Amino acid sequence: MNSIPVMELPSSTEHKIISTQTTCPYCGVGCGVTATVQDTTLGQKVSVVGDVNHPSNYGKLCIKGSNLADTLGLGTRVLHPMLGRHPHQQITDWDSATDLIANKFQHYIEQYGRDSVAFYVSGQLLTEDYYVVNKFVKGYLGTANIDTNSRLCMSSAVAAHKRAFGEDLVPASYDDFEHTDMVILVGSNTAWCHPVMYQRIMKAKELRQQKQSDLFVVVIDPRFTATCEAADLHLPILIGQDVCLFNGLLQYLHQQGYADSAFVEAHTQGLDTALKSSQAETDIQDVAVKTGISLEKLQLFFEKFAQTEKVMTLFSMGVNQSSRGVDKANSIINCHLLTGKIGKLGAAPFSMTGQPNAMGGREVGGLANMLAAHMDLDNQQHQQLVQSFWNSPSIAKHVGLKAVDLFEAVESGKIKAIWIMATNPVVSLPNADQVKRALNSCEFVVVSDICKDTDTTQFADVLLPALGWGEKDGTVTNSERRISRQRAFLDPPEQAKADWWAVAQVAKKLGFTGFDFANSHEIFKEHALLSAYQNAEINARSNAQSFRYFNLQGLTDLSLDEYDQLAPIQWPVIMRNQAEHAFAQLFSQGQFSHADGKAKFIATMAIDPVHQSNTEYPLILNTGRIRDQWHTMTRTGLSANLSTHKAEPFCEIHPSDALKYGLKEGELVEIKSAWGNCVLRTVLSDNIRRGQIFAPIHWNDQFASDARIGKVVNPVVDAISGEPEFKHTPVLIQPFYTQWQGVFYVREGYEHIVKNSIENTVWWTKIQTAKAVRYELADRRRFTQTTQHLKQLLPFEDESFEWLNLEDQTAHISHSVVLKEGRLIASLYIAPKALLPDRDWVASLFKRDRLSAIHRKALLAGQAMSMGNSEGPLVCSCFKVGKNRIIQTIKENNINHEKQVTACLKAGGNCGSCLPEIRGLIKACQAELTQ
Ligand code: SF4
Repeated sequence: MNSIPVMELPSSTEHKIISTQTTCPYCGVGCGVTATVQDTTLGQKVSVVGDVNHPSNYGKLCIKGSNLADTLGLGTRVLHPMLGRHPHQQITDWDSATDLIANKFQHYIEQYGRDSVAFYVSGQLLTEDYYVVNKFVKGYLGTANIDTNSRLCMSSAVAAHKRAFGEDLVPASYDDFEHTDMVILVGSNTAWCHPVMYQRIMKAKELRQQKQSDLFVVVIDPRFTATCEAADLHLPILIGQDVCLFNGLLQYLHQQGYADSAFVEAHTQGLDTALKSSQAETDIQDVAVKTGISLEKLQLFFEKFAQTEKVMTLFSMGVNQSSRGVDKANSIINCHLLTGKIGKLGAAPFSMTGQPNAMGGREVGGLANMLAAHMDLDNQQHQQLVQSFWNSPSIAKHVGLKAVDLFEAVESGKIKAIWIMATNPVVSLPNADQVKRALNSCEFVVVSDICKDTDTTQFADVLLPALGWGEKDGTVTNSERRISRQRAFLDPPEQAKADWWAVAQVAKKLGFTGFDFANSHEIFKEHALLSAYQNAEINARSNAQSFRYFNLQGLTDLSLDEYDQLAPIQWPVIMRNQAEHAFAQLFSQGQFSHADGKAKFIATMAIDPVHQSNTEYPLILNTGRIRDQWHTMTRTGLSANLSTHKAEPFCEIHPSDALKYGLKEGELVEIKSAWGNCVLRTVLSDNIRRGQIFAPIHWNDQFASDARIGKVVNPVVDAISGEPEFKHTPVLIQPFYTQWQGVFYVREGYEHIVKNSIENTVWWTKIQTAKAVRYELADRRRFTQTTQHLKQLLPFEDESFEWLNLEDQTAHISHSVVLKEGRLIASLYIAPKALLPDRDWVASLFKRDRLSAIHRKALLAGQAMSMGNSEGPLVCSCFKVGKNRIIQTIKENNINHEKQVTACLKAGGNCGSCLPEIRGLIKACQAELTQ
């Protein structure tokens, strides 16, 4: 049973309870959730649990999904169309806003041509939104200058699939995890980034062990992540050497006679060229040296792969986000093709998508190099097919600009107008300050978003209020090709509208027909009809003018009611009532989408990442996600529960490198590259190799003074997919000098009073707690200078505020507490790090309506009077169990299994996201005991 975070929303007086089955809006696992809205006299209460009937998660949710209700408040929302750039925005109406957009786009197209306008959209969009905007841009504006943030996460996998299979196809399903004998996780911290999928694999492993057999789990990752805790084998590969590793495996399989010659002969082509191009990896000892993996581990991996019939290789951003991302994915697929480990239950390569609807975006042709319904922009027959179906005045005839190139074209002035939807490129793109410059200089910027203030909305000339999760209605497709309904269960707030509606308004104002959609059902039907247009099912492919596996023929005649009730279903959907697992495994008959029906081996060569470390930038920066935050924190950053596990922007550094560069645990570190710099908190970790550092992608200018890691990342991209090399940027690290550091809390509702003074400190980061906002601060002003002008930092001038102060000038300690009518309003502690107060304890005092004398005294001292031991950093966010309590429990009870920790503390007993960390703590305690 999942915990039920509850969000109270204003309105309504009836006491009714309505539950809605919908889909989580975060990662590509695509978990089903049940959202329940209860009307009370205080307003609406929303609770969210896992949907036990959804075949992708069977009721399980990770910590992010479990806390969805926390993210539904309207405090940060944009609720009306706005005109004018920040800070000169003014409310307008939809008619005026869409008039302006239509006029401006028309003007630029007439003046400078179709390619002078661009769209940058998102894997957060529903398929229906995605479909309409693509139709508008590619079929009516006649340009392919529409790209999506999915470019940043899985475009390499798309290109690899198309090269190997002839179509962008993920050939397997989550069910396969229960049938496979070996799971290889490549470039993925699955335990944190696809948690429910990871737990499903772990559950399969556990069940297998109970039956005295095994599911062998391998993790290939430069870091020892939470995912490695339960793995049988971890291969700590050097960043960028995946092609070398899998080419080595291909050679090994070939040399040792493990090829499935019958499969290769009947269903593939191109093996010889793939073998030739991988000849540099014929010697396993060389491969060990080049990949940085020990020979012993490498041999074990190769043997296991070779000797196991059912192998699944799951790959994610560590593969895709690379200047060789497409080749990396193809080198993996090559090994599966050679051994025939594809198209069978429990055997396939499997790309894990990052976003909730990255797959849906691919279906509608959301990338600048794709047409709708899995057709190609550079294919004349496909152009004609799509144009005739749409009956559109034009069709894009050449590939548009991919994300990085697109924003370069904005900065150069080639693109005059851009419309950005549901994404935050100022944070998420590499060389992110270039994006800032580009938008700053762009003549006309439209942003559709749910948030008023993001790093990107600052540049909007028109800001359109979009519907958020819970308000919008449509479909999404997850990593296993499963289409699920995302249903609305909340009324649209104020003037917020669906993205497809906004695009259709502009299209109609430009005089285009074909946009008279009444609802998402009508759009979905058109999308399904296009997928089936001049298409056929696999066994009748010779009858099709253009065969594509992506075919929703069986959904083309859905009634509105049937669409509303649509149960999760995997495509292709040839018949409405096709068997549940009809297409769980593609290629089971060995038929691929290439015209000859064969899969292609792709010749890949191991080539190093573009920018290597050097004397100026001696370390390599790797970036990625963390467990409890999603993308740029616009939703997860609002949840106190999700802000505890990793509260601050941080950089993981190996202790030896930290020593070398003069850094200590908890100090601030400046990370510099040739493209930009930022300042993060140092976290020492021997889970990272020497010479590498790791930083999360989430923090941005709304949550920290200088933690936007995208600024630092090199803008190198894969030549085929255009996906950026987020995992490999040469950097320099150095201590970030400050005079003092501190922690500051301010009660919600008083934040505006301190905003400027906080932003005047040289470094700050903002953390949501239950009733207050916490800031970690550091500054270069001298301690005395700061404390002499405390009211500059704490401008609570009004006499109604009561002040308590404690100061020790010699020890550089200053404690200030501000109260109003006995309630805690703010508290500031400036002190050496070890003397700063327990953060959770201070936050807990904001929950009190009145502070007792003991509390006041303790607060001023910065120490709880009878607190007992501190929890330490939070590990289990569901049950609020910290690292210190878990370690103490493990030691006191001599615990050797995570289930015992759950039995004692409940930790890990709900969403399970923290189980890998608990396993790690058990291992660490056991190691300590044996020393
Ligand atoms: Fe949402 Fe978590 Fe499921 Fe991903 S794994 S879809 S974030 S609940």
